[in-house]
Amino acid sequence: MTLKTPILVINSGSSSLKFSLFSGASETTNDTELLSGLAERLGTPEAVLTWQDASGKQRQSLEGEGHEAALAAIGKRLNADYGTPAAIGHRVVHGGEAFSQSVVIDDAVIDGIDACASLAPLHNPPALLGIKALQSLYPEVPQVAVFDTAFHQTLAPAAFLYAVPKDWYTELGVRRYGFHGTSHRYVAGQAVAQLQLDPNDHGVISAHLGNGCSATAVRNGRAVDTTMGLTPLEGLVMGTRSGDVDPGLHAYLADRLELSLDDINEALNRQSGLLGLSGLSNDMRTLIEAADTGNNDARLAIDVFCFRLARKIGGLAMSLSRLDALVFTGGIGENAAVIRSQVLGHLSLLGFDCDEAANLKPGEHARITRPDSTAALVIPTREEWMIAQDTRRLTEVL
Ligand code: ADP
Repeated sequence: MTLKTPILVINSGSSSLKFSLFSGASETTNDTELLSGLAERLGTPEAVLTWQDASGKQRQSLEGEGHEAALAAIGKRLNADYGTPAAIGHRVVHGGEAFSQSVVIDDAVIDGIDACASLAPLHNPPALLGIKALQSLYPEVPQVAVFDTAFHQTLAPAAFLYAVPKDWYTELGVRRYGFHGTSHRYVAGQAVAQLQLDPNDHGVISAHLGNGCSATAVRNGRAVDTTMGLTPLEGLVMGTRSGDVDPGLHAYLADRLELSLDDINEALNRQSGLLGLSGLSNDMRTLIEAADTGNNDARLAIDVFCFRLARKIGGLAMSLSRLDALVFTGGIGENAAVIRSQVLGHLSLLGFDCDEAANLKPGEHARITRPDSTAALVIPTREEWMIAQDTRRLTEVL
């Protein structure tokens, strides 16, 4: 039996850094997670590193340290217990049009990620910070970038172009990119495998519903439409993001409330969505509990969330030639049975008929609709695992 050396997966954000280590016992065994952890509040006096492995949970203060020190502490711990990783995979939010798949990182890739930073100013710079810090820590270890946008690069111009002056696209890259691509790729692939669909003739819609929410139509393994756009603000109602609004809203608010564009952007990204509508919380679990005890604003926030999602799923279906399955994933999609039921209730026109008992407790086959219904499935997403798989595949041949 060949032992697989571990793959380190890094998701580096502006003030936090998630990491996981994956390994498997043989070439034919799927990688399993050996360790996962989080460095958070980086750059503040409360900076802290927590991780969990088979020996339990551990915690280490980082006292004001930033990304580099956090990665050095993670590296020290890995070296002591697991040895040097075979390769390192990074989640990178924006790959623009330059990256349609995961790639081994070299200087040109670093320049490419940097060039996309203006499209994702909060996300790409910390990813680059993580890549460069790990290049210094492990100069011999190959690194791979896995992009949130890459899976959506198969969208046709009719689906990705906005109807705005053409120069905005050609000069500035203004178009729809889509995000959560790694999650959509994984769950759509799982649905095809679970339902034994024809790889060359299927239609799947995946709904990734976490704090950020997006849905994607997948035809024969390729993304053909998605709800997020130039930025992750477009589309569905999310925890604190509005999703679609009339673009005329900006001018109206600027005029009536004398808000700057930054203020409006901040309000649409951080004070809207479930939080804005309910005035209570961005957390779906809290809203479901509140709605159950008679909070009307929580109820209304849930109703808008479900109706918008159903309406978008209806739109996405128009880019498919057949609809075999709808997949729910993400914290809400995987856990909130009442949301799934309400969304499916809106979708009877597409042939959905929820099996309420299965929906309350999705079994091994993940199916939550009746036998004569279009299939709806609940499939837990595995973004980090996908990053580890891409990283192993691309670096094993090096
Ligand atoms: P992120 O996008 O940050 O990774 P998650 O995928 O963990 O977020 O999803 C977070 C959302 O999932 C929150 O709105 C949370 O309330 C919701 N959620 C998690 N568990 C449940 C549950 N049991 N019932 C309803 N909502 C849940």
